[in-house]
Amino acid sequence: MDETHYPNLTSFVKYPKFHPFPIQNLPYGVFEHNGTMHVGTAIGDYVLDLTHLEEINLLESPDQTFLFDFPSLNKFMSKGRSTWKAVRAQISNLLRDKPGSLADDKNLQEEVLLPMDKVTMHLPFEIKEYTDFYASIYHATNVGTIIRGPENALQPNWLHLPVGYHGRASSVILGGKDIHRPKGQIKPRDADKPYHGPTNFLDFEFEMGFVVGVGNELGKPIPVEKAKDHIFGLVILNDWSARDIQGWEYVPLGPFTAKNFATSISPWVVTLDALDPFRTEKERQEPQPLPYLQNGEGTAYDIVLQTFIQTEQMKNPHKIMESNFKYLYWNIDQMLAHHTVTGCNMRPGDLCGTGTISGPTKESRACMLELTWRGSEPLQLPSGEERKALHDGDTIIMTAFAQNQHYRIGFGEVRTKILPAV
Ligand code: CA
Repeated sequence: MDETHYPNLTSFVKYPKFHPFPIQNLPYGVFEHNGTMHVGTAIGDYVLDLTHLEEINLLESPDQTFLFDFPSLNKFMSKGRSTWKAVRAQISNLLRDKPGSLADDKNLQEEVLLPMDKVTMHLPFEIKEYTDFYASIYHATNVGTIIRGPENALQPNWLHLPVGYHGRASSVILGGKDIHRPKGQIKPRDADKPYHGPTNFLDFEFEMGFVVGVGNELGKPIPVEKAKDHIFGLVILNDWSARDIQGWEYVPLGPFTAKNFATSISPWVVTLDALDPFRTEKERQEPQPLPYLQNGEGTAYDIVLQTFIQTEQMKNPHKIMESNFKYLYWNIDQMLAHHTVTGCNMRPGDLCGTGTISGPTKESRACMLELTWRGSEPLQLPSGEERKALHDGDTIIMTAFAQNQHYRIGFGEVRTKILPAV
């Protein structure tokens, strides 16, 4: 913890208590205003223009190079924690409610503070590669039980390593961008042959994505105790899934076209530095993992995760699940250590999904497959409708936040509408 986390810090930019973007948060994103794309940070209902602040020398990198002269976070993220901390401290200082700073300069405020509803957000970083893990024991157990029965719910490797696969970076999109129902190859269980058509079981998966800032050299694994030096921050991640396509194609190499049509992320990257006060005990791991995966206490984070649905008949969104990031069995440090154990090189801008973050209760099941137990227990909605899977016209809204008695560190939201197949 440092000064930037102090609960009594106040900004001259005003916002209500438990606003997602207080001065203790300072997440990073890329925004467009009047046709120009810049890097910014969210403060209350405003975006602070970091690219412009750097141009006019009010923000300075410790190595005197430009960090924000390109509309992506990759350059800044590649610099490492000492630069991340130095820049965070400068931004925190600029935004404080104290005389002799930006607080007193109304003209400068007009130049560098833009109302959030007047800007368009873009992908915050150039996504180099996308990897998806499967790190919630509750999710893996539920899905395994649905597919193979409770006896063989977890595969023999599951308690020994964070299972993952290499996904597709090109189809990672920003929340707010709608998706069309995908078409693919499907074989109903009682049919002899597959057919090609729209998925009948479109699903969301509530995951968080961790973003690699500092990479590693090919052949040099990242030790688990050094993983946090490489991880810049977290975003909300919706790993869209077509369950019927997945069920037919996944043997023996895992998900392919059932997952590669879209993955939605939130526009603001919340840094691990901002989340530091919300570190908590990780899940107990039994059996003990191999030494290269062992790490200490305080390597998980207490972050509330919520999903809402709004069908075309509903006036307001309705909450269908609430879980917590801390329920992950494997933590992000272990995922990164395992990803690189054979020498794989990570690069700035690599995105890693945690896997669906289900918890121990029914309410904390983080996808429709689990919530409806593969369609056998449809969700009952306040509109009188029911859902076994997502319909065209449904909007899925995901949000996440860490909160203590003083303030909330919000992630914003990922909002996506399902459009008909084309
Ligand atoms: Ca997934």
